[in-house]
Amino acid sequence: MAAKYPHQIEIWKSILSRPQMILAKPAVNLFLLRYLKKFKIRKVNEQLIIHSHLPPLNSKAYGRFINQHLLSKAPRLSHAQVGLTNACPQNCEYCYNKNRTGKTMETDQIIRLIKNLKELGVFWLGFTGGEPLLNKDIVKITESAGDDCALKLFTTGCMLTPQLAKDLQRAGLLYVSISLDHWKEEIHDRVRRYKGAFQTALTAIDIFKNLGNIHVGVSAVLSKKMLENQETEQFLDFLIGLGIHEAWLSETKPSVDKFWNPDLVISEEERVALVALQDRYNQEGKITVNYLGHFEGKEHFGCNAGHKMIYIDAFGEVSPCVFTPMTMGNIKQESIQEIYKRMTSHFPSEESCFINKNYRLLQKYSVDNQPLCLSDSLAMLQEVQFGPYAKFFRLYYGKEKG
Ligand code: SF4
Repeated sequence: MAAKYPHQIEIWKSILSRPQMILAKPAVNLFLLRYLKKFKIRKVNEQLIIHSHLPPLNSKAYGRFINQHLLSKAPRLSHAQVGLTNACPQNCEYCYNKNRTGKTMETDQIIRLIKNLKELGVFWLGFTGGEPLLNKDIVKITESAGDDCALKLFTTGCMLTPQLAKDLQRAGLLYVSISLDHWKEEIHDRVRRYKGAFQTALTAIDIFKNLGNIHVGVSAVLSKKMLENQETEQFLDFLIGLGIHEAWLSETKPSVDKFWNPDLVISEEERVALVALQDRYNQEGKITVNYLGHFEGKEHFGCNAGHKMIYIDAFGEVSPCVFTPMTMGNIKQESIQEIYKRMTSHFPSEESCFINKNYRLLQKYSVDNQPLCLSDSLAMLQEVQFGPYAKFFRLYYGKEKG
């Protein structure tokens, strides 16, 4: 036990150092403890890390999670992703940013946006794109987020140098996720439609690992074929061999027309199998497996698109999450506060993935495969039927929905 969970004492110290937790409902605390127990806590740069979708247990960001979310019933954002550019040398067939266009946000707009997002409750911030490293001000933007927000970078690894990695870590970057979809070079390069994508990813992993004080993960989009052929274990074993901290997994989402096909959407049986696989790997503890459908599954926190999660693309368009090509407003025309108010009035938390469930409606309203404009998004939402809360929110709100 001691070898498997080497930071037990520090974990308990950090839990006990937050006596306000006692004010949360016992059922909610019990749920969180049971959830925590599913992971091996890793210590990186003095930070006690559960996984990269949550702030470290001993961080200021975790304190904000407790005070502003756990102990407050006001609807607030917790997670945001911001597109730092739409440019990317790769061209993935499933890319959720396809066909997004406009004038990109300036650096000062991004910095103001981050400040406003934190005021709305955000304690976890993901930098995405396009390829976010193509934004020449990424270090300055990272620095602006302060030390009370867990910062994560999603990158292909293109443009990374050892110096840039060092600068990002110094600026406050906590987690990195390098895109890698397969253990076979030719398959990864084919999916990304970019020769050399696989080698670029491996080089970036080495650069971040050599820093030694940053949490390094891979983010992988699992194809339907990989799920059907039950190849995920083989892939995870390959990732263990890379010596990284975490495998962040999601399945291909029906965000773009090519994937609006029920045969390509993950089944509930496949999701449940991945949830079980995650729990097994995490008990073994060689790598943290962090499958989106585990965190966002009905057994845990459910889908919080537009409720606690938000995505602002490089052009300032605001979507409920990265996988939902619809806009609820643009931060160049309205404040993020106003847009979030509109969004949250339409998006209650629910147990199932919004896009997996509603892509047919998206297809119905889609014009030329562009993301839905605001009026079409609102019209589509009139037809959406939201389901019950996931387990955490049933306990947290103390009731079923309705
Ligand atoms: S729509 Fe799906 S991918 Fe987006 S936040 Fe909800 S569960 Fe996650």
